[in-house]
Amino acid sequence: MRIGIGFDIHRLVEGRSLLLGGVKIPSAKGLLGHSDGDVLLHALCDALLGAVGAGDIGSYFPDSDPKWKGVSSQIFLEKATELASRKSLRVENVDAVILTEEPRLGPHRIAIQRSIAQILRVKDDRINVKAKTMEKLGPIGEGEAMAAYVVVLLEKE
Ligand code: MG
Repeated sequence: MRIGIGFDIHRLVEGRSLLLGGVKIPSAKGLLGHSDGDVLLHALCDALLGAVGAGDIGSYFPDSDPKWKGVSSQIFLEKATELASRKSLRVENVDAVILTEEPRLGPHRIAIQRSIAQILRVKDDRINVKAKTMEKLGPIGEGEAMAAYVVVLLEKE
């Protein structure tokens, strides 16, 4: 078995769509980023690459490269899952924490889990997503940013 951890943080700004785990969430603000800014998929990608032993998202998709401007973060996940399957590693489970003050993610939790399961081509019950507030502390607590931690366990087929 192989374990990987991923973390990411993005600024929350007006005039951007909020995408989390590939799901569009109604929100006054969205995540700033070179790509679609999906902080959860970026952390998941890094967790997968970590478990595979294949570096990090920036080494494959540098944000200095205009090629990745505005692209769907699902492309990053496709690369990470391809690297995993090349090593005959499949996803056992994923656990994630999203840190945000707003919007409240409870009503969208199941949809986000389903979306990630689809992207990774695994059953829904292998994916768990939680949301936490920062109790109004720091930049996340003040609504200036959103962050995500993801842990993934891969198993040799
Ligand atoms: Mg990112």
